[in-house]
Amino acid sequence: MEEFLDPALGQVRVFLRHDDNKPRKLKYNLGHARVLTFGGAYSNHIRAVAEAGARHGIETIGVIRGEEHLPLNPVLARAAACGMTLTYLDRAAYRRKDTEEVLAGLRARWGEDVAILPEGGSNAAAVRGCAELPGEIEDDYDVICCPVGTGGTLAGIAAGLPEGRRALGFAVLKGAGFLEGEVARLQREAYGRVSGNWSIDLGHHFGGYARTTPELEAFAARHGFERIYVAKMMYGILALARQGAFAPGTRVVAVITGQPSTPVEVCGAPTGFDSGEPRWRR
Ligand SMILES: *Cc1c(COP(=O)(O)O)cnc(C)c1O
Repeated sequence: MEEFLDPALGQVRVFLRHDDNKPRKLKYNLGHARVLTFGGAYSNHIRAVAEAGARHGIETIGVIRGEEHLPLNPVLARAAACGMTLTYLDRAAYRRKDTEEVLAGLRARWGEDVAILPEGGSNAAAVRGCAELPGEIEDDYDVICCPVGTGGTLAGIAAGLPEGRRALGFAVLKGAGFLEGEVARLQREAYGRVSGNWSIDLGHHFGGYARTTPELEAFAARHGFERIYVAKMMYGILALARQGAFAPGTRVVAVITGQPSTPVEVCGAPTGFDSGEPRWRR
């Protein structure tokens, strides 16, 4: 693994593990002929479901928050190119998307057999997919870090850790205290128990989801980190190291989530990991 070097790390060593978590979350969610899911107009999850659908011959339906804007932004254009049917829910209805009323409406429209994945794709099957990640890391380490959006990735990584190691997630949302309950719920749904080897840092959200600051922006640009998730985690790791939160000699693996920066061919179009994401959203 590539080592991340910075004088502020002192005796702490940080290694970068590039790993696209979205396909892992979908791996055990694809045993259906037709999958419907939810997301914002720039959702990595929507894009990943559309791409997985195209690869595995599954019909996909993306329920997008807000109104349709034409031309489609690059994320939704790619989803459509992958064959995803896009449909829209106004913001008020979208807030109620997990209620039986809205779900019943969606089933009536798209078929009773449609499999419905939650926004962000975190469910028990997603946790089991992410739990396979630690087993693929051959090098030795003490702590593994990942960004936390909905918590499925952290829940899985922690569940898959060998004895004696711990997982540390960095929340990208503001006021994300609820995430501890979410990660615990997801582990319980997947395995019937909660592993005691993880925690969540709530102090490096930089204002909230998709928010940023000039300082974070400069940090992301300097290192070429994706801004919404990865830069916040990396900034947080450095800050904690500076505060002495890791014992000298600690080996940290930082999971660089998201697509590889080298474009890959999907649905006939190259996709890079900054594709279409607004750089500065308010
Ligand atoms: C979705 C996503 C995450 C967060 O994963 P959760 O399982 O929702 O916590 C982290 N990084 C990237 C790049 C993502 O797209």
